[in-house]
Amino acid sequence: MNIHEFQAKELFVKFGVASAPGRVARTPAEAEAAAQELKSSDLVVKAQIHAGGRGKGTFKNGFKGGVHLCKTPAEAKELSSKMLGQTLVTHQTGPEGKMVNQVLIATGVDIAKEYYLAILTDRATSAPIVIASTEGGVDIETVAEKTPDKIFHEPVHPLLGLQPYQARKIAGLLGFQGAQFRQFSDLLLALYRLFIGCDCSMVEINPLVVTPDGKVLALDAKFNFDDNALFRHPDILAMRDTNEEDPREVEASKFGLNYIGLDGNIACLVNGAGLAMATMDIIQYAGGKPANFLDVGGGASKDQVSAAFKIILADPQVKGILVNIFGGIMDCNVIATGIVAAAREIGLKIPLVVRLEGNNVAAGKTTLADSGIAITSAEDLADAAKKIVAAVAAATE
Ligand code: ADP
Ligand code: MG
Repeated sequence: MNIHEFQAKELFVKFGVASAPGRVARTPAEAEAAAQELKSSDLVVKAQIHAGGRGKGTFKNGFKGGVHLCKTPAEAKELSSKMLGQTLVTHQTGPEGKMVNQVLIATGVDIAKEYYLAILTDRATSAPIVIASTEGGVDIETVAEKTPDKIFHEPVHPLLGLQPYQARKIAGLLGFQGAQFRQFSDLLLALYRLFIGCDCSMVEINPLVVTPDGKVLALDAKFNFDDNALFRHPDILAMRDTNEEDPREVEASKFGLNYIGLDGNIACLVNGAGLAMATMDIIQYAGGKPANFLDVGGGASKDQVSAAFKIILADPQVKGILVNIFGGIMDCNVIATGIVAAAREIGLKIPLVVRLEGNNVAAGKTTLADSGIAITSAEDLADAAKKIVAAVAAATE
């Protein structure tokens, strides 16, 4: 799960990570009031979306930039009115962009130098790692590609945690001295406490800045949380903004389904993540493109299967469905009953290929055959993939 920058700022305050004070606003009038409360003659208005690259983004109405500096509450109001309710396109949003429903009004700070700082889970070592660079404010991927020696990596022992000497080592590598050396080390240690305390999988600050008067501040915040640990953090879960998520995924999460929307046109309904991956691969191999990853799990109920099927059918991009079930714990007849119930309720107007195998397969096949619904059955995975790709090709010609 991701959160907005204004929510990340609340966590910064709670954990003692220095940043520029700010307030969220949902209307231009709220933006003006928020700017007045900040009592600063330097302000910044920032579009709040779950994507980076806002500064260099462009709104679909032509207005350039999702981050603007200004001086007065009236200007903050004016800028907000150009961003709120508009769609912002950045290199991270894709061409469809993201609707801006709220803006952050924050104190604007002078920037002497920008740095990059992140903590994330390193898959290679299964432990946290601190990543820092003197080349902040810009695209870190480009820095990693062109000047990898300007990026520092500091692995952290998962049980011991980030040690003060490690924070000082990074401060030294980044060239901090005097008061900033101390400020940076304290900020990094606080950020690490936040990372562990909130079960984050990533916190990224780009840029972390030093001001001309020597303050070290986090100016941006991108957070990612480990979804499997969110049950321990009801306060963070409450920050979820489903407007920012794929509506298909939001619906699937209500039913405890493991669903990820993709951009192809063949929907898959599969039990088990490994089998779901294999199914997506084989669809691709047969010349098709999967519309989703969907794992209904080992012990799905009829209602879950039915919900999954409805999510698939509600997607206008889907031109065919491949159901691939290997019944172990899963009873094939539960799947069959769920599919039939959903197809009856919504109506099935696109090709459906079903491959069932394993636990109670005979009853499952009978349920499908007796339903009167147009279903193509398949012998095995390869056969199923070929059949659905052919059926979708015929239907979309
Ligand atoms: P994004 O990464 O989505 O473009 P940022 O929060 O990094 O958004 O903002 C883009 C740029 O705007 C930053 O690199 C920084 O130069 C500037 N900026 C952001 N917040 C402030 C602020 N509070 N005061 C002054 N400049 C800021
Ligand atoms: Mg940034």
